[in-house]
Amino acid sequence: MRMGRNGTFWDASRKVSVAARGLAARPMSQNVTNCHATKRCQRRVGAFPIVACPKMSRNVPVRKRSFFGVGRVDRPSGGCPQMSANVRAGKKVESGMGSSRFSSPPRFASASSRASLQLLLMPLRVSNVRLSVDAPESGLKERVARSLHVSAGEIREWKILRKSLDLRDKRDIQFVYTVEVLVPEEDQGRILDRARRQSNQVEAFVDEPFQLPDSGGEPMRHRPVVIGSGPGGLLAAYFLAERGYRPIVLERGTPVHERIRDVQAFDSGGCFEPESNYLFGEGGAGTFSDGKLTCRGTGPDVLRVLELFAECKGQQPGKPSILYYHRPHLGSNRLPAVVKAIRRKIESLGGEVRFKTRVEDLLIRNGRLVGLATSSGEIPTDVAILATGHSARDVYTMLVNRGVPVVQKPFQIGVRVEHPQELVNRVQFGSRHYEDQLGNADYSLVVKGFADVFTFCMCAGGHIIPSVSQEGYFGTNGMSLSKRDSPYANSGLVVTLPTSEFGANDPLAGVRVQELYEKLAFELGRGEYACPVQRATDYLQGTRSSSVPAFSYPRGAVTANLTELMPPYIAKALQAGLPQMDRAWRGKFLRDAVLVGPESRGSSPIRIVRDDSSRESPIHGLYPVGEGAGYAGGIVSAAVDGLRTARAIIGRFAAIG
Ligand SMILES: Cc1cc2nc3c(=O)[nH]c(=O)nc-3n(C[C@H](O)[C@H](O)[C@H](O)COP(=O)(O)OP(=O)(O)OC[C@H]3O[C@@H](n4cnc5c(N)ncnc54)[C@H](O)[C@@H]3O)c2cc1C
Repeated sequence: MRMGRNGTFWDASRKVSVAARGLAARPMSQNVTNCHATKRCQRRVGAFPIVACPKMSRNVPVRKRSFFGVGRVDRPSGGCPQMSANVRAGKKVESGMGSSRFSSPPRFASASSRASLQLLLMPLRVSNVRLSVDAPESGLKERVARSLHVSAGEIREWKILRKSLDLRDKRDIQFVYTVEVLVPEEDQGRILDRARRQSNQVEAFVDEPFQLPDSGGEPMRHRPVVIGSGPGGLLAAYFLAERGYRPIVLERGTPVHERIRDVQAFDSGGCFEPESNYLFGEGGAGTFSDGKLTCRGTGPDVLRVLELFAECKGQQPGKPSILYYHRPHLGSNRLPAVVKAIRRKIESLGGEVRFKTRVEDLLIRNGRLVGLATSSGEIPTDVAILATGHSARDVYTMLVNRGVPVVQKPFQIGVRVEHPQELVNRVQFGSRHYEDQLGNADYSLVVKGFADVFTFCMCAGGHIIPSVSQEGYFGTNGMSLSKRDSPYANSGLVVTLPTSEFGANDPLAGVRVQELYEKLAFELGRGEYACPVQRATDYLQGTRSSSVPAFSYPRGAVTANLTELMPPYIAKALQAGLPQMDRAWRGKFLRDAVLVGPESRGSSPIRIVRDDSSRESPIHGLYPVGEGAGYAGGIVSAAVDGLRTARAIIGRFAAIG
């Protein structure tokens, strides 16, 4: 059974009942826009195709949406009688937007009389359904029914597609839902007509299925290698393994349980471990990240990644809400289990993960990758995914030395700001205490100026951590546990540094900018990874703070003038932006805030060149992936980048036997 967004919707027993009627096994492809395989049926309004079937009572706008992964069931939309007949008969319906072929059956269901009645249920999407945060979610079905002008009893199946929070009216904070409802095919047109006469809250839509291509024909002489086990590498390896490519994952750091021990020891004042820290080791920077699973993109690939995270819950209880909540969050305590569970899946599918194996060089012959030199010897390979993150500066240097095309990229740098969590709760929730229903509040702010200043990686109820991957350098970041229950709220406060401010034209100039300020911070912190800190008000005055309030960093603090720990361009932008943020919070942003820094690893200062469609570097066989390659910023986007590269490799190469 595949998990529905709220974990309640889809029931394997129904598929069994469909299969028993001989429908499940038939391959079928179908497309909503061209049910009769004639272009005349097809029209578009804005971004969405319109089903304009002459046999339909009305044109039904159909939004594409996906919420399941591999083998997702596709189904027709819009209640077109011809298409439905085709589907019922198990006929293939050619696609008007590129032919697609799915082997899964459409979702037939009959909740009440499964034995005899087989209804074709059609999906409707109902948006902007609102519930006060004080109201129980059990009332949602009733609200949805009201939007559809049907009784709650008429709704057989439904699930939440998206849940977000409207904080604008502090006296009545509301959850806002988008819900999918399945209705019998014969009722769909009537329900839609009636609902749409009242509002445009309801529409028909169809899922865009998650797909991987069939294996390509180009031979691979060796198993593919994935370098780095962060979200980018791990997900690439998972999808390759799922398709039988038996990838070898090389990770310079330690398995997650050893890594936890090393990180805890460092936090409590112990030695820095250069290969096992907050940034290196199993799961990459993602493992001790805050676990916010937000991503700018949407669609079936994003959803498939979230599903995998939701499935791989380890011993912790699952968190299916990450599939639909607008700000999905796992927390640093859950991520190690997720990472380990994905590794186990890769191994069970024939892949292999080798820890404490650092890739030190690429073996290239005639512009083609032929192998890798590692700390444990050479490994022959003709396909390698390079997903080493943006902290592996030795990898960047090696690439440049090897002549792999690498270019400068603007990156984010600034400080981290911390407030008492209680203050953030009052700013966001007002005088009413919604903490029981909503947990501690988060926020995000952007202010415009000659350079935008924006918050980034906000950790409600979190901690500031030393984001260090090299001895002798210091930077900050933040994390929180799944309960988000510390008394502090921290957030990156960053500005994008344009390449024109790098001071040189070579590809590694941005890396040197990061290193310059991280080294200064380390020296200021007495070489003990003490954290440079300054009150926000003193920062604006340009004075060191004589004292600072308690804050969450674990290894001690040193007062500093943070302006010295960032490029002048960034300091100027923060000077302009901070007062604006204070105005946005009606004078509450600056007063109790402390700034720490530098926050220098917000994104990669380089991009490793790759072809847009093949995803290959000009060095044949080398596939740069994820944040370090300059194609992602965050856990989910790095994971999706890995998935898409796996897809490109699957479509091109044959799996080796
Ligand atoms: C403290 C912190 C909090 C964060 N919070 C969030 C958050 O809440 N939400 C979010 O979306 N993002 C967050 N991020 C960012 C997120 O973690 C990264 O965007 C993401 O991990 C990037 O994935 P990646 O696979 O590209 O690289 P990484 O995760 O950096 O993984 C790279 C891997 O490659 C390995 N490696 C490096 N060099 C070599 C080599 N030579 N040989 C073999 N292996 C090598 C490293 O050990 C590492 O395991 C956070 C980051 C940090 C540091």
